[in-house]
Order: sequence, then C-alpha cells, then structure tokens
Amino acid sequence: MKRLSDIGTIKEILSRHGFSFSKGLGQNFLINPSVCPRMAELSGAGEGVGVIEIGPGIGVLTQELCELADKVVAIEIDKRLLPVLDETLAGYDNLKVINADVLELDLNRLIADEFADMDVVVCANLPYYITSPVIMKLLEDKLRVSSITVMVQKEAAQRICAEVGSRRGGAVTAAVNFYCKPGLLFNVSAGSFMPAPKVDSAVIRLDVYSEPPYKLADDKKFFTVVKAAFAQRRKTVLNSISSSLGLEKHVVNELLLNSEVNPQARAEKLSMDDFVRIAQGLKL
Ligand code: SAM
Repeated sequence: MKRLSDIGTIKEILSRHGFSFSKGLGQNFLINPSVCPRMAELSGAGEGVGVIEIGPGIGVLTQELCELADKVVAIEIDKRLLPVLDETLAGYDNLKVINADVLELDLNRLIADEFADMDVVVCANLPYYITSPVIMKLLEDKLRVSSITVMVQKEAAQRICAEVGSRRGGAVTAAVNFYCKPGLLFNVSAGSFMPAPKVDSAVIRLDVYSEPPYKLADDKKFFTVVKAAFAQRRKTVLNSISSSLGLEKHVVNELLLNSEVNPQARAEKLSMDDFVRIAQGLKL
C-alpha cells in the first residue's frame, strides 16, 4: 500500500479533487513522513485495539492506524474529504468514516456500537480551534478509552503537561489531571504541515485512570472551582472565586480556610488535593 504522507502524492490527490484548505476547520495536513508512523505506534494501536480518530483529513494518520489496529473509526466534519478518503484508504476494510462534528457526537454510543470487545484508544491530529473542548469532551463524557494521543499546539501541550501547582499550569492542567496522567511524547515543527501553521506542535498522550484517584459526590463542582480560581489568575483565589461565582468574600474566605487553603494564594499554587477539598466544601 502506497504511503500517503509524501508531499508530491498529497498535492496530486488534493489538486485532482479540487480541494482548497479551510482555515476555519483547522486544516493543516501532515506532510512529514516520519510523524504519523511514530504517533500511531505510541498511541497503543495494535491487535485487539479499536481506534477513534478525529479529523482524518486525507488519511495520512488513518492509514498508519489501520495498519496497526483491529478497527478504526474516523470522524470528519468536512464532506469534501469523503471522496478523497474513499480513494486514499480504499484498501482498508477495517475502517469506518463518519461525517460528523465530533463535538456533537454521542461517543459513548459510538464505542458501544463499534468497539464491543476491543480496548479503545483515541489518536488524532486535532483541529487547533477546538483543542480544549475536544479534550474536555473526551474526558468528561467518561468514555471507555484507555488513552488519548493527540497533536496540539506546543504551548497547549506544555500547559496540559505542566505540574499542577506550577506557574505553567492552568485550569486545563487541573481538569486533565483529574481524569488522567498526561505526558509529552515529541515535538513537531511547523514545517511538517501543509499549509504550515505559525507555531510548532507537540504530540501528547493522556493515560486515562481506570479508577479515578479523586472521589467527589459531584465531579462538576471540581471543574466549577478550578475554572473560578483561574478566571482571574493574577488575583488571589479568594478574589477570583468570589467574583467568578458571585459569592460573598466572607463565605469564600471561610470555605478556603476550612479547606486548608490560604485565601491569599494564587490558583497556580494550588494542588489537586486543594481543589478537591474546596469542591467538597462548596455549597451552590
Ligand atoms: N489528520 C489529518 C492530518 O494529520 O493530516 C488532518 C488533521 S487537520 C489538523 C484537522 C482535521 O479535523 C481536518 O481534516 C478538519 O476538516 C477536521 N475537523 C475540523 N473540525 C472538526 C470537527 N468539529 N469534527 C470532526 N473533524 C473536524
């Protein structure tokens, strides 16, 4: 089977289909032949494994995943790419392409219908305009997936993989760490894409905890607290939480003291356990 990631092949296919890139859909296609095999390998795709791919484009990564996994379901929003994928991946009978917006899909249903007896992983070169919403959907929907391997902008990768309680951390760092252990796999230069984006990228892998380490009666409160604490990250947690949630300062002050958190600290200094204790005490 001819490999797709050669730039000449990609240009020829796209021009034959009269395809023009949509900036709005985050269409930067991979043209560096070494990236997709490495990403597919590190994603855990293999025998007995089903893969969900988001945004196959013309199928460069999809092809590598189909070579390794038992089954691949690729979700692509852009109808214009369907005839392209029909052609480029014609040789694979373990592939299903779904024309949909990933943010609108019921992924739990998809997993039950398509991957009944398989381990499931996610692997994707994400459209950057929806990096955080996609990652948060994959985690908050509590999907039966063991890992999520995604290409994101380098800065987003650094934030997601930062230590909670460090300067580089943010709301997304704490949110991701609630469900999984994130790790940076490798960096990818902007020149590896067509058209080349303005910034470099990185591939990260999120290993989803089979047993969540943080137990809360209502998980949503954890995310409410994290978002409120980081809403004004230069301010103290006392000020940021009280103004974001519209709560009186003395109420938040008491909540923080009862949670053994210094009200004058900034959100970036708080640990996962700090956020969990605040969420446990929060009454809304
Ligand atoms: N996987 C291909 C590659 O690596 O060359 C393409 C990656 S490109 C960065 C992102 C892909 O996601 C595009 O094919 C784009 O059309 C698709 N996409 C954008 N928004 C989407 C959405 N909401 N749901 C599903 N696919 C989407």
